[in-house]
Amino acid sequence: MVVQKFGGTSVADPEAIRRLIEIVRSARARDGRGPAVVVSAMSKVTDALLGLAAAAGESRLDEALAGVETLRARHMAAAHALAPAEAAGALGSSIDAELDGLAAVVRALAVLREVSPRTLDVVAAMGELLSSRLVAAALLHAGVPAEWVDARKAIVTDAAHTSARPLDAETDAALRATVGASIAAGRVPVVGGFVGATRDGHTTTLGRGGSDYSAALVGAGIDAREIQIWTDVDGMLTADPRVVDSPKLVPELSFDEAAELAYFGAKVLHPSTIVPAVERNIPVRILNSWKPDGTGTIITAKASATGALLAGLACKPDVTVVDITSSRMLMAFGFLRQVFEVFERFRTAVDVVTTSEVSVSVTVDDRRNLVAIVEALSGFAMVSIEPEMALLCAVGDRLRSEPAIAARVVGVFEEVPLRMISQAASRRNITVILRQADLPHAMHRLHQEFFT
Ligand code: ASP
Ligand code: MG
Repeated sequence: MVVQKFGGTSVADPEAIRRLIEIVRSARARDGRGPAVVVSAMSKVTDALLGLAAAAGESRLDEALAGVETLRARHMAAAHALAPAEAAGALGSSIDAELDGLAAVVRALAVLREVSPRTLDVVAAMGELLSSRLVAAALLHAGVPAEWVDARKAIVTDAAHTSARPLDAETDAALRATVGASIAAGRVPVVGGFVGATRDGHTTTLGRGGSDYSAALVGAGIDAREIQIWTDVDGMLTADPRVVDSPKLVPELSFDEAAELAYFGAKVLHPSTIVPAVERNIPVRILNSWKPDGTGTIITAKASATGALLAGLACKPDVTVVDITSSRMLMAFGFLRQVFEVFERFRTAVDVVTTSEVSVSVTVDDRRNLVAIVEALSGFAMVSIEPEMALLCAVGDRLRSEPAIAARVVGVFEEVPLRMISQAASRRNITVILRQADLPHAMHRLHQEFFT
């Protein structure tokens, strides 16, 4: 049996939810039971909720209440389109009750003029609580024996509101008692992602984008065969489509490869969100709900066996190189500590680092504190910066064992001046820093060499 998670755009409106129904129906027909369904809030709803909480906290009450009514209208309209009888009955009442509750919270916030993380979670969770009720009713109306599962009874977390961590053993037990029991009874459980609750019942959320994490928890909790992440793209691509004309779909990726690609901006899914699945060896597949017949990208714990030399390319435009040179670095210890302390003090993350005997080069993409950083570093070294650079990264498990692949990657850049080259200990990626102006050409050449 599989877990099917649908992101915000895949539940955005009645049309999207009708596609969801057919996807669920065919999984059930294939497996003879399940699936377990996890849904995000309808697209943009979480942003709207956070926005109206902020407005209420600043006493802009009318604006916040208008926001509540906009959400009511959108959910009610979808309910009437998908499940008219239920919309006039229990579904309609529960949507109204949730939003009346939200309006009451909003009024309280406007009086208190303060939004605590705990209250913010009550507000933010509303999107998934509503979408999951709506989807469950729509499935039921379409003849699929769906059942709404309250995420607050299924995911048990600590009290770190707005980015709560699940408590593993308790969550497993809670998931078996809710989602697992529903499947065992022949039903299709529908649970809102992103949402959980503490042991004593306070609503929590798992951090932005947390529905993928919920899906991984559900999959691990009920021992699913596969976790499907239904979204609005075909899967992970061999390169950024804004830079390379026709990137190809990556059919198969190891978890480690996915992590390296995601780090440099392949935004489809953040691998850290699927750790619970990977730990239990459950494959995670990314699929497009507009093209349900696609095979998507499958991410598994082990290296892929497709024979591809590289898994994919990633790039990050607009980085700045900072060169730090000092003759004191020669044979000295403590120099790097001094350098990195400066970046730490100004809360600026460093992406790539290379060193030679007398110099260190680092790249940063956050320029907000660059002037102050350069000034601080200048206290003990010579510093120069080079803006308008880009980072290009080739990823593949086979880079570890086959040096010829790395040589071929670097060979492709023959006529492109490289500013830095780095291969970290994982040896799963080669990263080069080049001029931003050279990025499109370099990406194109590399893509041609390895993927066409
Ligand atoms: N709705 C939440 C968000 O927008 C969680 C999710 O969609 O994954 O961050
Ligand atoms: Mg998402």
